[in-house]
Amino acid sequence: MNLKSFHRRSLDEREAFWAEQAALIDWHTPFERVLDDSRLPFTRWFVGGQTNLCHNAIDRHLATQADKPALIFVSSETGEERVFSFAELHREVQRMAAIMGSLGVGRGDRVLIYLPMIPEAVFAMYACARIGAIHSVVFGGFASHSLATRIDDAQPRLIVSADAGSRGGKVVPYKPLLDEALGLGSHQPAAVLMVDRGLAAFSRVAGRDLDYAEQRQRHFDAQVPVTWLESNEISYTLYTSGTTGKPKGVQRDVGGYAVALAASMKHIFCGRPGETYFSSSDIGWVVGHSYIVYGPLLAGMATILYEGTPLRPDPGILWELVARYQVSVMFSAPTAIRVLKKQDPAWLTRHDTRSLRALFLAGEPLDEPTARWIAEGLGRPIIDNYWQTETGWPILTVAHGIEPTPTRFGSPGMPMYGFDVRLLHEQTGEEVGNNEKGVVAIVPPLPPGCLQTVWRDDERFVKTYFSSIPGRQVYSTFDWGIRDDDGYYFILGRTDDVINVAGHRLGTREIEESLSSHAAVAECAVVGVADTLKGQVAMAFAVLKDPALVAQPADRLRLEGELMATVDRQLGAVARPSRVHFVTVLPKTRSGKVLRRSIQALCEGRDPGDLTTIEDPSALEQVRAAVSPA
Ligand code: ATP
Ligand code: MG
Repeated sequence: MNLKSFHRRSLDEREAFWAEQAALIDWHTPFERVLDDSRLPFTRWFVGGQTNLCHNAIDRHLATQADKPALIFVSSETGEERVFSFAELHREVQRMAAIMGSLGVGRGDRVLIYLPMIPEAVFAMYACARIGAIHSVVFGGFASHSLATRIDDAQPRLIVSADAGSRGGKVVPYKPLLDEALGLGSHQPAAVLMVDRGLAAFSRVAGRDLDYAEQRQRHFDAQVPVTWLESNEISYTLYTSGTTGKPKGVQRDVGGYAVALAASMKHIFCGRPGETYFSSSDIGWVVGHSYIVYGPLLAGMATILYEGTPLRPDPGILWELVARYQVSVMFSAPTAIRVLKKQDPAWLTRHDTRSLRALFLAGEPLDEPTARWIAEGLGRPIIDNYWQTETGWPILTVAHGIEPTPTRFGSPGMPMYGFDVRLLHEQTGEEVGNNEKGVVAIVPPLPPGCLQTVWRDDERFVKTYFSSIPGRQVYSTFDWGIRDDDGYYFILGRTDDVINVAGHRLGTREIEESLSSHAAVAECAVVGVADTLKGQVAMAFAVLKDPALVAQPADRLRLEGELMATVDRQLGAVARPSRVHFVTVLPKTRSGKVLRRSIQALCEGRDPGDLTTIEDPSALEQVRAAVSPA
């Protein structure tokens, strides 16, 4: 079948299409209705059907591959490496589920998971899924303030945490941050379950803090049957990255999510049982939920859980893991590739990566120079895919499981089945034509796997996502896109990342792409800054592959001139940045997304706004120093 007719059918015969996909998972009780769209934009999938994510990801495979690897834990931080078979994982999850049960955690209760990338995090997520508790994973890199707001929002009965994580060889204690967060917020959990890795000493609150190893012994032989859940019960809540402001609490169902992931593993990622999947993301992000924890195991694959950076012990570590575990499908982010781009490309070929059928990249625009660099250096197919925390799986990509489709540099591909993607005029709400820029929107019902609502805030769900395009109740992604004559989409940046120079509307992404094409540039960010004459001007911040290139003021001027000339040549003088500042690091969220809005605020002398999700505050200081008059 070809991709376009597959997509067409998913919309024209929506219920028949998804009923077929639903056969990819086990149902304890069949659903009565495929879709209930009587209360749009709220959508209910597989109504009345009973299933369970843990059963489908683990128990279901015991008959055929109990002794095959399910979870491969590798820490380049501590040197640990442990492989859990499906049978072992099944036992660990039941132990964790029994501990939770003994602490009074049941169906619908929240469990907040604040853990580094260790196996216990996966056990805890699956234990929740098994007993119908709702997990809320908070990225381990967040400090007390971000953690406190999430604890207060989720109101967990239980928090699962650890003494410490480790990043770049440095121990990062978690427990003091957790205690501080519990002091800052108002909600108190009934219990805190502590995984003690022996990395950092910590204090315990008597009567509240429990030791995981001790509890695990107590429940060592536990058998905890799965709780069958109605498809529309809640599996988890998770916050967006907070690139554009206050993070939104995305709430997801059980059955729709399981079906969506199983279908994407088949059609998009083409993973086969017995193979190994490696996503270098983090369990604190949606990619970690969908494609470290749930997706690979739903497909009967082993999944690699990697604690570490792409650079240690050396910049070949990701490819070394591919070779060691014969990884067939890999998922990473452009930001990780741009980190590697500052290293010797010889690292890309030091290990045998021929087992890899494709490397999927998502999270940020994959600029053409970076895409070429990795595609040529690695010699493996690179597949860009575009989606959001809200959607749970790709909106735009190619689906080689349906039809081998050539990819185009700079384009994440085409709309995936189930997503009725439209490009709409921002003011009129009308559809724009090919090669015209529009807001990427999705006509409801959203397919299975997408958010049900914003946690405990239906009004915000409708208001935020379905009310921004005049006259139409459609889901807005808040990204600009354009479609070429062959149906390939290109993402041009966020709707608030457009600048207006003397009446010309320019996407900051195009200017960034142009600057990135210069051989000296590793990555860059462009923002629009208010200008009394032109309305706005573009201001650029570039990180060089080799900072020594601009050691002297004269070098700086020369390179700035070269970069401006590059933009002049490629886009025209109107797009030329008024300045190109050189910095050693860009302000990013902890998920690696450039905080353009905060950079812009600093350039205009305003407050940089909510910075709870920022990775490295010193990056903003560099921006501040660069733009403040000497
Ligand atoms: P917030 O919504 O809180 O501001 P966020 O949008 O960064 O945070 P995520 O859901 O993690 O939170 O990111 C989704 C966004 O990332 C998309 O809307 C898009 O802007 C960007 N994105 C993801 N993948 C791609 C891609 N392949 N190409 C271009 N942009 C992408
Ligand atoms: Mg977003």
